Amino acid sequence: MQLFRDIAPCRNTILESRRSGLLVGLVPTMGALHKGHQSLIRCARENCALVAVSIFVNPTQFGPKEDYEGYPRTLPQDSQLCAAEGVDLIFAPTVETMYPSGGRTSVHVSGLTDGLCGPVRPGHFDGVATVVTKLFQIIPADRAYFGEKDYQQLQVIRQLTRDLNIPIDIVACPTVRDDDGLALSSRNAYLSDSQRKQALSLSRALFTAVRQADSGEHNVEVLTAGIRAEISAAGPAEIEYVDIVDASTLERLTTIDRDARICLAVRIGACRLIDNVAVDAP
Ligand code: AMP
Repeated sequence: MQLFRDIAPCRNTILESRRSGLLVGLVPTMGALHKGHQSLIRCARENCALVAVSIFVNPTQFGPKEDYEGYPRTLPQDSQLCAAEGVDLIFAPTVETMYPSGGRTSVHVSGLTDGLCGPVRPGHFDGVATVVTKLFQIIPADRAYFGEKDYQQLQVIRQLTRDLNIPIDIVACPTVRDDDGLALSSRNAYLSDSQRKQALSLSRALFTAVRQADSGEHNVEVLTAGIRAEISAAGPAEIEYVDIVDASTLERLTTIDRDARICLAVRIGACRLIDNVAVDAP
């Protein structure tokens, strides 16, 4: 496994592999790798001849009061996990390498970023869209793998690859959860034991809502009220949003009359958790 810190040698290695006909898969991450990332890597490994993982805690997608400084950075352990999973190449640049001029150019995807996490995290999706576009230039893969855990991000990236004619197939991978239902996240490390127990209310409430929708309850207000009540009953939490949206456009629905996604963001203590589940059209 090769570890690249610089752009040119990394890009050249990818281009050489593609010239020799290898199918290249990219898994972009911010590191602190867990089983969620591992599932993306395994999916890439099964389908691609060369697997590249990028590890970069991207400052431009964090707000001024967010956890950029404290975000877990565990490159030695991440490298071990990647090596064990048969990753061929890690790209782990510094901030100076990625933004030598401080980052004067940015990619904005409108519409999809208006709701859900968009208003709560101004500038976040511009940071994500810009860094992913840059990674796609540095690692011109055939396929790139993203988790449904970050559903809005996934839709934003699908849109930007279409709009900017980037010839990379975006592959979505299902959310990996702990046995008790909690969606894996690098930020779960911030939770105390009791907060972690409380956080189980999120997936529990989402799965309850899916069951209700499957048995005919399609009223969004009723479903989201149930989710809010279940989360509030579990302990002190700040519910940022609970929304049911069109699965492609992310437009807010009042009735589930098409494929939809139930999405939420909740703060428990210092930890901001997001989760989402699919609801099929009735
Ligand atoms: P991050 O390192 O948090 O930026 O995530 C890197 C990639 O891993 C993104 O595409 C995430 O959606 C994906 N990911 C993170 N957590 C999970 C999870 N629990 N299940 C599946 N994919 C995940």
